[in-house]
Amino acid sequence: MKKLLIDLDLYAENKDKDFGCSYFYHSGNKGVRSLLELVTYALICRKCELAACIEACPNEALGRNAEDKILERYNMRCTSCKSCMSACPFGTIYPEMMTYLASKCDLCLGRLTKDEMPLCVKDSPEGVLKYGEYSEDKENNIFLVAKNVLVKAEHWELDGIPKKAK
Ligand code: SF4
Ligand code: SF4
Repeated sequence: MKKLLIDLDLYAENKDKDFGCSYFYHSGNKGVRSLLELVTYALICRKCELAACIEACPNEALGRNAEDKILERYNMRCTSCKSCMSACPFGTIYPEMMTYLASKCDLCLGRLTKDEMPLCVKDSPEGVLKYGEYSEDKENNIFLVAKNVLVKAEHWELDGIPKKAK
């Protein structure tokens, strides 16, 4: 099955670019932003035992996934105050992730014909977003972060040991 592949370093160089999005349930949706949040929590966040971001949130809008302890944001509670961003000692949370109007990516399910690409991929500068028959390749820093979403990025932990310390 085709998957979306995001190169996080290339994305960071182009994050001010306006990637198109065909999700139509609310205007101004930027699906790539929701993917950025997903990727950041899964791969970049240090998963602190005493998480300053969770403690700082005045609305109890941050928590952890029960299964793998990955951070998650409850959009209905988040007021975009960005206290979590200021509290994180590692600069993990970017302001563009914490928008009041949360974006959603449904991977264009049901909107693509066989050979079509999602609009964000069409709009992306070379190599930032790709769509095709890609698969996880941990040796080359490509990780599956959700069903049909892969990211090329340095994972903070590899086999429980911070990768940069190896
Ligand atoms: S931006 Fe949202 S998640 Fe972060 S502290 Fe404010 S309310 Fe909580
Ligand atoms: S404080 Fe920063 S690094 Fe720690 S859990 Fe929160 S977002 Fe992740």
